[in-house]
Amino acid sequence: MIIVMQQGALQSQVEDVVKRVESLGYKVHLSRGEARTIIGIIGADEHILQPGTFEAMDGVEKTMRVMQPFRIASRDFTHQDSIVSVDGVQIGGQKIVVMAGPCSVESREMILETAHAVKEAGASILRGGAFKPRSSPYSFQGLGEEGLRYLAEAREQTGLPIITEVMSADEIELVCDYADILQVGARNTQNYSLLKVLGKQSKPVMLKRGMSSTIQELLMSAEYILSGGNMQVMVCERGIRTFETATRFTFDVNAVPVLKELSHLPVVADTAHGTGKWSLVNPVTRAAVAAGADAIMVEVHPNPASAWSDGAQSLTLERFAQLMRDLRPVAQAVGRTL
Ligand code: PEP
Ligand code: MN
Repeated sequence: MIIVMQQGALQSQVEDVVKRVESLGYKVHLSRGEARTIIGIIGADEHILQPGTFEAMDGVEKTMRVMQPFRIASRDFTHQDSIVSVDGVQIGGQKIVVMAGPCSVESREMILETAHAVKEAGASILRGGAFKPRSSPYSFQGLGEEGLRYLAEAREQTGLPIITEVMSADEIELVCDYADILQVGARNTQNYSLLKVLGKQSKPVMLKRGMSSTIQELLMSAEYILSGGNMQVMVCERGIRTFETATRFTFDVNAVPVLKELSHLPVVADTAHGTGKWSLVNPVTRAAVAAGADAIMVEVHPNPASAWSDGAQSLTLERFAQLMRDLRPVAQAVGRTL
């Protein structure tokens, strides 16, 4: 069972509820978020507790029984879709949010050119990696803080909030100085020590699905961030490893409605990494939108042939503008706007 305290509940009210839970022989997991405190009751037979025991107490908003192993991430926690808000952009609402930009920030000129073009075509968030998780230590590792500075300049010029990857806990402070949304990459989905620190941040987090993670494992990872008190979490399907060799990864379109059924968190579809091939990005993105994705993430580069990473799956500026035109009727058909 979870006890959700009212927004602005007093410290003494939280303490009274904790004492009551402990006096009944249960342990407590306290999540203090910026917005509200959540008290998780831990015990083998917590299901026998009566909601009224706590709901009558001062400062308590509601109690909830959660059947899934992930609790705060569960649809049982709130039936309403959660909305992550970033500088006036709402992810999880009626409008499908488009995150676009290069795999890596390569130079000031290329990120500025890309930022202006994707904004013009209708994107609302700029993506770009400054710290890159590469399979080879000899590949380009990203521009680091210099890349973050260029992203910030692109935001200044276009007004687009920025999302960029944070690979380790000791980079969080630096990345938070620049980024609006922190991206956790597929290779870090189950890096629990990183997730725990992200749970203490006030910036939104987009958590990608590991290439070999089940949907349940993804939601358990989201739970690490949520249970730390950071409620601004979205999950992202980015393709998984299967026996299929025609594509780099297999975009699991099932994951989109499965995640929407199991969880209230916004669902992002990264169809660039999900396919690995630019010609598949357009049709698979349309499929993801039709399946109910709240946001999409695609890689866009002014000259993919010369990209320092992921050129094969990057759309040119023109192909991105075409994708936006092609997505509009699909969004409309499923009752969304773009
Ligand atoms: C990326 O977004 O560029 C990236 C490295 O993604 P993933 O973690 O999904 O491989
Ligand atoms: Mn990439």
